[in-house]
Amino acid sequence: MSNKENMKKIILLSISILSLSSCVTLPETGQKKLLLTSVDQENQMGTEGYKEVLTKSKLANKLPAYNVLQRVGSRIAAVTGQSDFKWEYNLIEDKQLNAWCMPGGKIAVYTGILPMMKTEAGMAAVLGHEVAHATLRHSGQRMTQQLGTQMVLGLAGMSLNNSPYQKELMAAMGAGATVGFILPYGRSHETEADMIGLKYMAEAGYDPREALEFWKRFAKVTEGGAPPEFLSTHPGGATRIRNIQKQMKTMTKVYQQAAQQHGAGENL
Ligand SMILES: [Zn+2]
Repeated sequence: MSNKENMKKIILLSISILSLSSCVTLPETGQKKLLLTSVDQENQMGTEGYKEVLTKSKLANKLPAYNVLQRVGSRIAAVTGQSDFKWEYNLIEDKQLNAWCMPGGKIAVYTGILPMMKTEAGMAAVLGHEVAHATLRHSGQRMTQQLGTQMVLGLAGMSLNNSPYQKELMAAMGAGATVGFILPYGRSHETEADMIGLKYMAEAGYDPREALEFWKRFAKVTEGGAPPEFLSTHPGGATRIRNIQKQMKTMTKVYQQAAQQHGAGENL
C-alpha cells in the first residue's frame, strides 16, 4: 500500500472512531469530557493490565494487612455505585510507596506504602483517591489527551498485550513506576480524585480527618531525598492539604451520616 493510501485509511479510521466516541458526562462531577475509549475498552484493558502486573509480582496476601485491604476495598467499592466494575484487591510485596486502581476496579497496594498509611482509615484515604481516578475515567482521558488518536488507532481490535503502546497504556491506567514509565496525573485530575476520594472515604465510614493526616505524612517525605514512585505520579504539596481542609466540615457531616463509623480503624 502506498503512503497516500495509508494516510487515507488512517484519516477514515480516525473519523469513524471520533464519531463513535462521544462527549461523555461523568456522573460524579457532571463534567463533559471527550473520550476516545469506551468504558468496556478501558475495563478490558484494566483487567488485562492487572493480570500482567500480578503475574510479575510477589503477592503478600498472607499478611494481616491483606484482610484489612479486602475490608476497606469492599467498603469503598460499595459506595461508588459502579455496577460494571469487577472489584479485586491485592497486596504486592514491594518496597515502593505505591498504590493504584486500574479501570474496572482492579486495585493494588504495595507493602512499602503501608507504614505511611498507618491505619485502616489511612488506607481508605489512598484507596478512595485511587478509586476516584478510576470511576472518573482519568485513564481514558489520559489515553485520549496525552497519547492521542494514533495510539487509540493502534488499539483498534488489539489486546493490551499485543499493543505496541503497552507500557504507555499501563502508565495511563495508573501502574506508573511499575512499568518503568511515569505518567503523572494532571493537577485537575488530582484535585478531582482528592475531592471524590474524600467523599468515598467518609461515606464508607472512615474519619475524613485521617486523610488530612495521611497527606501531611506524605508531604513530609518530599523533604528528604528522592521522591518515591507514588509521589512522582501524585504531586503533593500545601495546595492539596489546603483544599482538603476546606472540605473537612462538609465531609465530617457525610461521615457522621454514614451507616457505620469506623473512625481510624485498625492500625496497620
Ligand atoms: Zn492521584
